[in-house]
Amino acid sequence: MISEAISNLLSLRGKKALVTGGGRGIGKDIVNTLLGAGADVAYISNSLSPEQGEMEQLAQQNGVTVQGHAANVADRPRMEEVLKQLADGFGHIDILVNNAGITRDGLLFGMKPEQWQEVIDVNLSSVFHLTKVLSRQMALKKSGCIINMSSVVGLIGNAGQANYAASKAGLIGLTKSVARELAGRSVRVNAIAPGFIETTMTGKLNDKQREGVLGRIPMGRMGSPEEVSRIVLFLASDLASYVTGQVIPVDGGMAI
Ligand code: NAP
Repeated sequence: MISEAISNLLSLRGKKALVTGGGRGIGKDIVNTLLGAGADVAYISNSLSPEQGEMEQLAQQNGVTVQGHAANVADRPRMEEVLKQLADGFGHIDILVNNAGITRDGLLFGMKPEQWQEVIDVNLSSVFHLTKVLSRQMALKKSGCIINMSSVVGLIGNAGQANYAASKAGLIGLTKSVARELAGRSVRVNAIAPGFIETTMTGKLNDKQREGVLGRIPMGRMGSPEEVSRIVLFLASDLASYVTGQVIPVDGGMAI
C-alpha cells in the first residue's frame, strides 16, 4: 500500500501536459501514463494516433481530457497555429515533453546534407522553438517542467547515426543550459536517454542488427515504452521536485 503522501507527490491532477510525437511508440505511452496520473494531455503528431479512441476512453475514466493535433513539429507556421489553438482551447501548459524524433541513418561518407538537416530540424531545432515559447509562460508562472527525449546515442554515439547522435547530444546541451537559466524560476528541465526500446523506430532493425544490439545491452533485452514513460512520470511529478538539468539513461545498462 502506497502512502497518501507519496501518492499525492506522484499525482498530476490539475496539471496540463503537452507531448510531441504522442501518436505512437514511446510518446503514445507517455500520453497514456500522464492521463493515468490525472493530467489533461494534448499531443502533437504528424498524424493523429490510430488509438485516439482508447486514449479518450482512458481520459474519461480518469476524469481528464486528451486532445490530438496533427502537425509537423518542424513546420514553424503550423506550430504557431497549434500553439494558438492550445492557448485558446487547452490552457496554460505545466508539463512539456519534447518526444518527437526521427532517424535518417547512413554512414557519414554517404550522408546527404538533407538527411543531416531533416534530423536536426525535427529532433533539435523544433525543441528550441517550442521550449522558447512555453518556457517563457512557465517562467512567468514560476512553475513548470520540461522533459526532453534524448538517446543513449547522444551519450556514446553510434556508427551510421552521426545526424541523430548530434541532434540527441544537442538536446542534452540544451537541457542543461535551459535548466540553469530557469532553475531560479522554479522551472525544471531534464532529459531522458533511452537505449533500445521496442517501437516502430527500432522495428526497422533486421535480425542481424537486432542481435548486434542485444549484445551491447548488459541487461540482455530491449526496453518497453512503459519503462521510459514511468521515468517521464517521475520527472514530471513532485517526487522529482529537486531534480533539474539531469539526463537519466533508461537503457538496460548500455551507457555504463
Ligand atoms: P516512433 O515509434 O517512430 O514514434 C515517433 C512519434 O513521433 C510518432 O507519433 C510520430 O508521428 C511522431 N513524429 C515524428 N516526427 C514528427 C514530426 N516531425 N512532427 C510531429 N510528430 C512527429 O518513435 P519512438 O521510438 O517512440 O521514439 C520516440 C522518441 O524517443 C524519439 O525522440 C526517439 O528519438 C527517442 N528514442 C527512441 C528510442 C527507441 O529505441 N525507440 C531510443 C532512444 C531514443 P507519426 O506517427 O504521425 O509520424
